Amino acid sequence: MAAERLGEGVSTPAAAGGGRYNEARLELLLKNIRAGLFHNLGFAAVVVTVLAGSAVPKPVLAGWGAAMLLGLALRYLMVSTIKRWPDRIAIKTWLWLNVLSAGFMGILWGACGLSMFYGLDTVPAAVVMFAIAGITAGVAANGHHRPYLAAYLVPALAPLALYFLMSPALSDKAMAGMVLLYGFILFRIGQVATDKLRYTTDLASENEDLVDSLSTTLDESRRTEERFQIIANYSYAWECWFDTNGHMIWTSPSVERITGYRPSDFQANPALGFDIIHPDDADLVRRAMAYAVNVPSEGDLEFRIIRKDGSPRWVAAVSNPIYDKDGNPCGIRSSIRDLSVQKKLEEELQSLASTDSLTGTLNRRAFLEKANEEVYRSARYDKPMTVAMFDLDHFKQVNDTYGHNTGDRCIVMLTDLVQTAIRQSDLFARFGGEEFVLLLPETELAPALQLCERLRRKVESRPVETDGDPIKITVSVGVADFQQNRTLEEIIAQADAALYTAKRNGRNQVAYGSTVMSEAPARSRPAGIDKLGR
Ligand code: GH3
Ligand code: MG
Ligand code: MG
Repeated sequence: MAAERLGEGVSTPAAAGGGRYNEARLELLLKNIRAGLFHNLGFAAVVVTVLAGSAVPKPVLAGWGAAMLLGLALRYLMVSTIKRWPDRIAIKTWLWLNVLSAGFMGILWGACGLSMFYGLDTVPAAVVMFAIAGITAGVAANGHHRPYLAAYLVPALAPLALYFLMSPALSDKAMAGMVLLYGFILFRIGQVATDKLRYTTDLASENEDLVDSLSTTLDESRRTEERFQIIANYSYAWECWFDTNGHMIWTSPSVERITGYRPSDFQANPALGFDIIHPDDADLVRRAMAYAVNVPSEGDLEFRIIRKDGSPRWVAAVSNPIYDKDGNPCGIRSSIRDLSVQKKLEEELQSLASTDSLTGTLNRRAFLEKANEEVYRSARYDKPMTVAMFDLDHFKQVNDTYGHNTGDRCIVMLTDLVQTAIRQSDLFARFGGEEFVLLLPETELAPALQLCERLRRKVESRPVETDGDPIKITVSVGVADFQQNRTLEEIIAQADAALYTAKRNGRNQVAYGSTVMSEAPARSRPAGIDKLGR
């Protein structure tokens, strides 16, 4: 639009919509002015035709007509050239030019109205009528611009009103009143048009501001949503929101990596979030959620879920309550991490900490932990229990003669022999060096002694590979049984004492207390003597 193009680089005060108002005024003016020009031209032509046959001197009439044509041409030029001026001319300047030219037109029409009363007696009424019609057309074209109205109406009507006012005839004075009233009405029409235009532009301006701020807000919220979506998409943790009933209302895509279910599965079944919790942990999670609705929870809640493929998985959740804008709790937000790697590491560490690296049996610490439970059980339920200590005979010499590797092989051999002979519920541990401990829960002394004797014989008859010929080794065993009010330490000490008996008595035998139980075993001699094949 011309007005908009004009508005660019224009120095009008744009504050409080003034710039926009002026632009709208100009736009309306450009729209109406051409029609106004043609009306003026038409009325002027009729006036000239009517007065041509009157006593008005021809040069005066021609001069008037020429002035009218000149005025109209100038105004037409202003309108048609405005589009070529936008950078150089301000809207306000243009509006004032319009006021000036309107004043010129007003003077012409005023002169036209007056002329007939100076010695003219022909058709003055028709001329006045056309003059007034010309004036009205001018107002209709630019009525909304008050300075224009004043510049156009005052010179057009004032001489006529003065002329009538100066006449002594009462009817002429009434005519003056009529002219003034007519001018006033035209001015009022212009004022109403101005107010309407200002109101409309203000409204348009407000609308535009509203649309601007709305689109800014929309842009902002779109950007926020995009950021949120990016965070949700790239979040490694499984982010989810629950309503106050514990129903999941939103979940991040990472849920699929942890649970195997897609976000759409949770949308289809809002209870799925709870359904996948391991039955053993469901109660714990429910209680924690109920608590988290009111109190922000700190730290992780660890629990298991059942994945879509049926496998269990450890996860850890941190939850916070969500509040609406009035501060009422409206749900819970949880961030859930996959703990499977961590749990696996923990298990590995646990196993490393409780297992002997050479034999894979329990170590001393793990044995004592588990054995204490067994002692407690035996005491509580009055069940029998037996403990046996194993120590390889002359082991220093085995090491010295055949090397450490052979020594290790002997240790592993003893472990294999024992482990294949005992039950799942029995505890077998490497107590230190080449010393082992075996705890047999719910086992009376007699079968325990038989087992130990069997094991002793097996060790005796099982050759161990060396770098040279295979060798035979032997083991001594000390046995003790559980009796009420005896602690684990006391039982172990008893077994140790029995082991000492076996050693002192010549080794390669099983002893209980100070009694040797083995039936005449071959005395163990220092390693190297019992070489196979000799
Ligand atoms: P005894 O018949 O009285 O038991 O005599 P021994 O030589 O076996 O004496 P003792 O039980 O005190 O000897 C323990 C030896 O076991 C000392 C050490 O060299 C050896 N030993 C301890 N741990 C290991 C191990 O992991 N590998 C090997 N090869 N030898 C070990
Ligand atoms: Mg030893
Ligand atoms: Mg030994």
